[in-house]
Amino acid sequence: MAAHTPKMGADARASTSIGVREDTTMTRDVGRSRLYGAERMVHRLFDTAGTTRTVRLAGTDLTLPVEARFGSVDSVRDYVTRVLALPDVIDRFDRASLPVLVRARRGETAAHYRRDVQTPEIAIPESSQGRWALRELVVLHELAHHLDDSGGRPHGPDFAETLIELTGLVLGPEAAFVYRVIFGDSGIGPSS
Ligand SMILES: [Zn+2]
Repeated sequence: MAAHTPKMGADARASTSIGVREDTTMTRDVGRSRLYGAERMVHRLFDTAGTTRTVRLAGTDLTLPVEARFGSVDSVRDYVTRVLALPDVIDRFDRASLPVLVRARRGETAAHYRRDVQTPEIAIPESSQGRWALRELVVLHELAHHLDDSGGRPHGPDFAETLIELTGLVLGPEAAFVYRVIFGDSGIGPSS
């Protein structure tokens, strides 16, 4: 992977996270840590699926899709453009027609989505510490923030449903099933 070498500074900090680690400017974000924890389990399942891509979950044998890894922010930008142009995504999400900027986030280890700007943006860490963010499941998380029009909490149950549906449309029903089972087991649902 040809990643940018980070400028090491006071804010360069070690990340032990293998999942989503993200800042948010929104104040009421109840449920975020629970959702992050559940996502880490999903990511781990994808990481351990091996070359056969087969896993067993909730008594069901599944063949997981191959998850894309991105070597640069440019390739993330191309991917986001392709996802927002998918007919199924356009049909399901009105906000797919809204442009989103994809930019590098230097000196940071967390991916980030901002809606409160003229053009919404996804910022992706380009440093070696942030390289974990250049995986498809993390980019889909940020895109779900862009597409979520529920008006609910940033990482609340409606967002979780948007993420599940988007993942299903892009990666297929097995991936959506994984999210649905693990989120359900984690108590993330309509009443959470
Ligand atoms: Zn988020």
